[in-house]
Amino acid sequence: MAKCEKCGEKVKGLFDVTDFDEYGVEVGRSYCEKCYGIWKEEEMVRIENKAEKDRSMEEKRVVMKKSLEEMIIVTTDKMENKHIEKYFGFISAEVVLGTGIISESLAGISDIFGKESKAFDKKINTSKNIILQKLKVRCAELGGNAVIGAKYDLETIGKNMIMAVLSGTAVHIV
Ligand SMILES: [Zn+2]
Repeated sequence: MAKCEKCGEKVKGLFDVTDFDEYGVEVGRSYCEKCYGIWKEEEMVRIENKAEKDRSMEEKRVVMKKSLEEMIIVTTDKMENKHIEKYFGFISAEVVLGTGIISESLAGISDIFGKESKAFDKKINTSKNIILQKLKVRCAELGGNAVIGAKYDLETIGKNMIMAVLSGTAVHIV
C-alpha cells in the first residue's frame, strides 16, 4: 500500500497533485483521498486569489496609464485657469545616455547643430521620452497630476557620458 505524502496514512489509491512546499516551491505530491480534498479546496482559494490579484493589478495599471496620459508638465510655476491644491515637493528623473555619445558627436562636430547629427538627436529624443515617462510615474506615485517648474538638463559624467535630468515640483491641480 502506498503512503500519503501529507498525513502519512497508508491507503490503496493516491491522488497525484501539484502542491507547494514550505518554501512556496511547486512540488509533485501523492495524497490520500482526504488530503486530496483539502488540497483541492486550498487550490480553489489560490486560483480565486490569483484572479482577484490579477484583476486589481490590471485595474491599477489602467488607472496609472490614464493618469500618466492626463498628466501636465509645464516649465512655468503657475497654470492658467488651474488651482494648485497640493504640493508634493521636488522630483527628478534621470537617464544616462550611453557612453560614446560625446565621441560620436565630436566625430561629427561640424554636424552637431546641423541637420546631419541625426543619431545624436535620436538619442536625445528617445531619452526625453523615457525621462518624461519616469518623471510622470514619480509624480503619480506621490498622488500628483502635474509637474510645474519643469527643467531639462544635460550633464556630463566623466569623460564620455551624458546624463539627462528632468526635474520639477509635483503638484495636484484642480
Ligand atoms: Zn493523507
